[in-house]
Amino acid sequence: MIARTLRANGVCENRQVMMPGDSLPNSRNEIRSLDDVPSVAHLANRQQLLAKWCRAIAMAPFVIVLFEALVVFHDSGSLVAVVAVEATLVWGLAVVAYSFYLTFWGVKCPQCGSRFGSGAKCRSCALPRRSDDTLEA
Ligand SMILES: [Zn+2]
Repeated sequence: MIARTLRANGVCENRQVMMPGDSLPNSRNEIRSLDDVPSVAHLANRQQLLAKWCRAIAMAPFVIVLFEALVVFHDSGSLVAVVAVEATLVWGLAVVAYSFYLTFWGVKCPQCGSRFGSGAKCRSCALPRRSDDTLEA
């Protein structure tokens, strides 16, 4: 939205004002990085988080529940302990599968529409992941 401001000296000044419905940062609807498209930036951030911490997120519940099963249930083969350990293994597999999906197919480039990949730039059109990466290019 363009707002007009009349200054005291009589000069009319046009300024661009962001409204709640505006999603893009400039008037030319340019996409300079993934950060300019919040929904894709959110997925890309999740992709990087899972790429970095996938093993810890997947295995931490297993280690905790296995420890509990051995200490609390004294390795008695209790059905509760067995089901809890199996549930954590299913959780770990789900986390790894989701991380794999996000790495290879989950993030689509908003500029060219192909898979973005896991690098700092789009594999097809070299759109940077972060807005501060555009300064280096
Ligand atoms: Zn692209």
